[in-house]
Amino acid sequence: MRDLEAKGKVMRKFCCWLIGMILGAGAAAGGAQQPSHHWAIVLHGGAGVIERATMDPKTEAAYRASLAQATEAGAKVLDQGGSSLDAIEAAIHILEDDPLFNAGRGAVFTAEGKNELDAAIMDGLNLKAGAVAGVTRTRHPISLARAVMEKSPHVMLMGPGTDAFAAQSGLEQVDPSFFFTERRWQSLVRQLKKEGRPIPERPAGAPAPPVAPLAEIEAPNAHKFGTVGVVALDRKGNIAAGTSTGGTQGKRWGRVGDSPIIGAGTYASNQSCAVSATGAGEYFIRLTVAREVCALVQYKGITLQQAADQVIHKELEGLHGDGGLIAITPDGQLAWSFNTPGMYRARQAEGGRLQIGIYNDEP
Ligand code: ASP
Repeated sequence: MRDLEAKGKVMRKFCCWLIGMILGAGAAAGGAQQPSHHWAIVLHGGAGVIERATMDPKTEAAYRASLAQATEAGAKVLDQGGSSLDAIEAAIHILEDDPLFNAGRGAVFTAEGKNELDAAIMDGLNLKAGAVAGVTRTRHPISLARAVMEKSPHVMLMGPGTDAFAAQSGLEQVDPSFFFTERRWQSLVRQLKKEGRPIPERPAGAPAPPVAPLAEIEAPNAHKFGTVGVVALDRKGNIAAGTSTGGTQGKRWGRVGDSPIIGAGTYASNQSCAVSATGAGEYFIRLTVAREVCALVQYKGITLQQAADQVIHKELEGLHGDGGLIAITPDGQLAWSFNTPGMYRARQAEGGRLQIGIYNDEP
């Protein structure tokens, strides 16, 4: 009798355990919870001849502060569950408004003394993309690129039509003199004088020239780019890339660089990676740098860092091109690579610390 009772007890316990297991497995498989990824973000603010010896501490501190502020703005969006596209736009707005960078306010001048802005954005989830070239009146070209992606049937717009579309889309319009900075103007004048090219009239609406000459923030022969770019991974596991630039100083004839060309300066696919590049655009276009990095990751199965280094240090250097890139994968690999003395850069992954770098001897 006691034996039977004991056996019954064991059976009951076993049944309870079995039911528990079945219910537990069901709940897990039912997937009431969304798969959650750890977010991450990487930024660049341009590559080039950026060296400790020619950088004064105040300017260096200003760059680091601005990179931190932009990264934090993007990280905040991601931490609250926002999309990688929203994070990129938030971070790039800060860099576009900061005259330190060659994007939005602070863009370099063309040989005719104008600011012509280029930008692109790409969504790794669905390969949707938007790009603009030759923008002159839209305060935030990255938002215009996004509007092209989301509100037009096209991928790329150029010239006066871009600003017309921006105004129609409700994006903030400004007088072209909004983008004027004395530092960039003097830098253009120095370059044109050196090259014996005509110096254009000071743009209409620009403030009166300073009485005392500006301190030379840039060494006369410095080759700096200063484009801005952001790649991000959100909690849903989607990656995206965005780039915004004034192009290259003294550019002529409606020149367009790599930044707004999908696959050259900007690319994103959840199948491989997201990339934003900076450097001498003519080389990046010919090598389709951004897509090349992602193709290596996708088809060769190498790590993101290996792919980035191969494209920058072998392929770009093979053509004698200069510059760098930032990249991210949906599984959270982050990379940067550049072959110049410096690249303004920052990155942060969920739960990790903010890492900022300028020179090539920093990690
Ligand atoms: N890549 C940009 C261009 O060629 C320049 C830069 O990175 O600053 O337009």
